[in-house]
Amino acid sequence: MKLIKINRDSIKKNPNAGRDTYYVPMPMQTTFETDVAPDDLPEWLQEFVTEWTLGPPFEAARTKGQIGVVDDRLLEYAQAIVKDGHTFGIESKRDVQTIYSITPEGKYLYEYENTKVKCSNCHKMIPVNDIEDDCDDGIIEICPKCGHFNTFEYEYEKIEDIMK
Ligand SMILES: [Zn+2]
Repeated sequence: MKLIKINRDSIKKNPNAGRDTYYVPMPMQTTFETDVAPDDLPEWLQEFVTEWTLGPPFEAARTKGQIGVVDDRLLEYAQAIVKDGHTFGIESKRDVQTIYSITPEGKYLYEYENTKVKCSNCHKMIPVNDIEDDCDDGIIEICPKCGHFNTFEYEYEKIEDIMK
């Protein structure tokens, strides 16, 4: 069995070693709140309304909505409606999603040497990086020369075996 060696020059300490938590910024979310009843909002804004209270004569109207971005149209409308004595609040915030990884990051970063391995069907020597993978039905390897499946035998050197 051919051993694909780790390129010794490529070994670096992983600055994120042991890390198993990632923070991914989510798209900006803008919410608005106004005392204008949904039906009185311009049509383009109505589709972003997410909740509202009944409004007069029962209680003061309160309309909340969520929109992707703050654009000029929204700002202009907000300014105009505030001038008319209404309220219109806009709040933008970006949530951060926390992702937990099952396996913490390793101590080292490294690359493997692009070792040539022999195809057992066509007997050509193929650089390991040129072997094509297909994951449709479990992972199978395809020889780029003859197209046969799983004709290579090799294993990857383990970092634990060289860095002790
Ligand atoms: Zn082959």
